[in-house]
Amino acid sequence: MKKLWIGTNWKMTKTIAEGIAFTTRLKQISETLPSAIQLFIIPSHTALVPIKEFTSDSSIYLGAQNMHWEDGGAYTGEISPRMLAEMGLDLIELGHSERRQYFNETDEAINKKVHAALAYALKPLICIGENADHKHYHISKETLASQLKISLHGVSKQQAKNVLIAYEPVWAIGEQGVPADAAYVAEIHDFLRQTLIGLFEEVGLEIPILYGGSVNHDNFLEYSKLENVDGLFIGRAAWDIEQFKEILTQLGAQAAQKKSYIG
Ligand code: PEP
Repeated sequence: MKKLWIGTNWKMTKTIAEGIAFTTRLKQISETLPSAIQLFIIPSHTALVPIKEFTSDSSIYLGAQNMHWEDGGAYTGEISPRMLAEMGLDLIELGHSERRQYFNETDEAINKKVHAALAYALKPLICIGENADHKHYHISKETLASQLKISLHGVSKQQAKNVLIAYEPVWAIGEQGVPADAAYVAEIHDFLRQTLIGLFEEVGLEIPILYGGSVNHDNFLEYSKLENVDGLFIGRAAWDIEQFKEILTQLGAQAAQKKSYIG
């Protein structure tokens, strides 16, 4: 069953109260959407437990923004996969470009986290993306292949069924980001699909590849129609729930018409 994954990482923006208000409304909206749309939200750690109470009787998946790879120990300020699994989370976002840029996260560290997540039945949502220099020097594909291959090193075909990839070009993300051309997104997603097939054979066809980076009201439909785009990972354009609703309603109508998405 192919789903269209639509979700948002709140980064460090919402308090618990704001997160609960958002989630309460998202639950209402989710009931109007076809089941082909798989919603997910990624709050700050502080809001995970209270928000879980609101998502547990819904189809909305809940994820965290980062974790350590160890089960526990002397790692001040970190949170472990064991702790996240105890909360009953579905997803763990790994390797967001802000984690790579500000916290020096490497592909090798992300690989350890991927294995830890899979061991605790958390789906890793692995973020990859080239920066502006890589694009300028035409080494985007080399960069992305290397990010994928290192972060997925040692993952079996069986385990790969629980992995999600988010392609987020660094130059397209956030306030300074420039939205990518749909043709470029199509080319890169096709390349990522081929790379995943190279790694996992037929399982590579099933791994959802989401697109993120300045997705907004003007471009979301164009991206979502692309063959190898299995979802959208949205920042700013999803943080206001009524604006997010506009996007979701249109995607819901599109998914309901599309035969390849089975509810
Ligand atoms: C992001 O930071 O992952 C992101 C997709 O943000 P935005 O949509 O705001 O560019």
